[in-house]
Amino acid sequence: MKFSASIIAISQFCAISTTSAFTSPAPQIGHVGNLRHLPCPLASSTVMDDVSTQSASPQIQIGDEDENDVEPAAKSYLDDGFVFGMDGSGLERPKGKVANVVVEGDSLETTPQQVALVSGTFLSHALISALAIQHELSLTDGNVALTAAITTATVASSWLMADLGSGVLHWSVDNYGNGRTPVMGGIIAAFQGHHSAPWTITYRDFCNNLWKLCIPFGIPTVAAISLLAGPNHPMISLFFAVFCSMEILSQEFHKWSHQTKKEVPSWVNALQDNGISIGRVQHAQHHKAPYDGNYCIVSGQCNELLDTSGFFRWMEHQVYKINGIEANSWKLDANLRERTLGGEYRLPQ
Ligand SMILES: [Zn+2]
Ligand SMILES: [Zn+2]
Repeated sequence: MKFSASIIAISQFCAISTTSAFTSPAPQIGHVGNLRHLPCPLASSTVMDDVSTQSASPQIQIGDEDENDVEPAAKSYLDDGFVFGMDGSGLERPKGKVANVVVEGDSLETTPQQVALVSGTFLSHALISALAIQHELSLTDGNVALTAAITTATVASSWLMADLGSGVLHWSVDNYGNGRTPVMGGIIAAFQGHHSAPWTITYRDFCNNLWKLCIPFGIPTVAAISLLAGPNHPMISLFFAVFCSMEILSQEFHKWSHQTKKEVPSWVNALQDNGISIGRVQHAQHHKAPYDGNYCIVSGQCNELLDTSGFFRWMEHQVYKINGIEANSWKLDANLRERTLGGEYRLPQ
């Protein structure tokens, strides 16, 4: 668990550090016109990209001497400091249950490549799991009852830790980085965009919904961990094969939590009612601005502990102390920012 959490943490730390390197201090919404005066060349090129790719954006005359004539340009999901759904973000929250794809290049159409990636990933994870259980059986000298008990405990703990992992991942991509962030950019844009168009996920088929998470939690990750664990620790392989599968499936659990009871099969309602997958009421709490809690989307079992302990506010404060980057939730709620900077990490009940 620690190793996998480290992978997520390192990946997002790189994302946060990269963001910081390009834009320190991060430009604030509402001051976009000043971007071209930043010393960072990327900031200028970002504005140029916007001008060329967003026909709806107000045009900026590069080289215009009179700063007062410069209209603030609408930011895109690729820009640092862009927060989906925030005033000035250029995005409007659609009314009703309509699909609204907010990320450029994304589509609700399932492609053969998505099907191949998702099915290949789950087949591989299932194969590694089966081999691990078989190996465990040989290590216990064929003791089926003991192997079943060890396997059940491993799968259950992996499912629980995957919920925790989904919360840390969700928190990090909701609050840091943007569409240009290396490796995680697509996932960041998808998660942040989900706040602007929460119903879109319900229009996605299984593979269209899951394929993005098959990149960080796919075959290379589980294969590498299994190799590192070695043949004498098959339960480590099983733990991470299940963990990564759950992280990928978290988007399907998430989708179910946005659907009505009538829109899903009865076994899905049973999974939600028994706390196996994230429930509708609990996830609805996450969709209230400033999106500062209920980040876990596998089962939601870890949400209460994480939110009442103030774990994420503490993490945000540490990130801020290291590189000065502010969480998106702070930008949406000045009181939350003040409380966190004052060391008050618990969310108000
Ligand atoms: Zn979110
Ligand atoms: Zn949601």
